[in-house]
Amino acid sequence: MSLANGRLHMALPGPSVMPDAVLQAMMRPAPDIYSDELRVLTEGLVRDLKYVAQTQHQVAIYIANGHGVWEASLSNVVQPGDKVLAPVMGVFGFGWAEMAQNLGVEVELIDHGRQTPIDPEQVRAALLADKGQQIKAVLAVHTDTSTSLRSDIKALRQVLDEVGHPALLMADCVASLGCDEMHMDKWGVDVLISASQKGLMVPPGLGFVWFNDRAMAARQALARVSGYWDWQPRVEPEIFYQYFGGTAPTHHLYALEVALGMIKAEGIEAVWARHQALAQAIWAAVEYWDSPMALNVADPEQRSHAVTTVKIGAPDGDRLREWCSTNAGVTLGIGLGMGTEADPTGAGVFRFGHMGHLNATMVLGMLGSVEAGLDALGIAHNPGGVAAAAQVISTASSV
Ligand SMILES: *Cc1c(COP(=O)(O)O)cnc(C)c1O
Repeated sequence: MSLANGRLHMALPGPSVMPDAVLQAMMRPAPDIYSDELRVLTEGLVRDLKYVAQTQHQVAIYIANGHGVWEASLSNVVQPGDKVLAPVMGVFGFGWAEMAQNLGVEVELIDHGRQTPIDPEQVRAALLADKGQQIKAVLAVHTDTSTSLRSDIKALRQVLDEVGHPALLMADCVASLGCDEMHMDKWGVDVLISASQKGLMVPPGLGFVWFNDRAMAARQALARVSGYWDWQPRVEPEIFYQYFGGTAPTHHLYALEVALGMIKAEGIEAVWARHQALAQAIWAAVEYWDSPMALNVADPEQRSHAVTTVKIGAPDGDRLREWCSTNAGVTLGIGLGMGTEADPTGAGVFRFGHMGHLNATMVLGMLGSVEAGLDALGIAHNPGGVAAAAQVISTASSV
């Protein structure tokens, strides 16, 4: 018998759960794109997007996914022959680095592997070795969605300042914005990127690039900028269509308006605190279940609050995911990019996505289903992980 019928829960690290109100906002006819309605709407979105990133600077909106804003961000600050530093933890940073290479940019790579976040001291050494200060930007991923590692972005700003290096600090916050604490201005991030389908709770299709005056100066110094990715007309549009380089993504804008409204109503600090408490509940369950299950990231300070990567041993990651979706109506994330020689497809790894529109009931339901699956599949575990998670949630609620 399957017990999967009912509301399906997508516990993927993107696309994340879309609130009903967000989906409903899209259920309407196309608007008149020449009316004032969309201009006013877009001005409000720009304001609210700055709030989510905690910046007073600029934000450009693109009809794109995360890969699109990888390219958009680079296209405005570097040109062929320039050099960037890419300290990569986990998997996603390689994608951004490769995008830079495809644009003719030289990439100096530091590979931190899959268990440790970006090491500011290795970044310091690379900057000090750059005697002619040729490095134009440091590409840092805030949360790596494959490994669930989280890097300390403000520590990188401190290193840049201490070394006195003018490189721009660029942060990929696709998997962390609206989940993990981020203060673009206070932490000295020059360029920040994100996309709609993770912490921002909107269908895939919108990408965002926030940037400050230093980044704008880099843009002005380039010989040419790709017409579509150029952020200047998008932040200083003379006519409405320039916000989007063409027809506005009308229904995504309606969705985003509602999603950002939800974040504002809760308050960004409360959103961060909720993600932290729910993440801690998930970690408590996994740690209680214990061997053969283990969190990929040992140090809680280095863990994402939006996604959790769990090692369980092949093929049990795949078996458990299959059991959960077939029998319980919850879809867990695959071991994306986590393959090894012994387990080339990452079948021994799965991920909990816990970003965006998520409450204690959803997390406890998800964990309860996993515990049932462990039991049904005969995978060794200490029964009671859900109670351990409930304890964390109970403690969080009383403060
Ligand atoms: C999801 C993700 C991306 C890529 O986003 P797409 O929308 O899939 O192109 C980039 N960086 C990080 C950290 C991500 O989590």
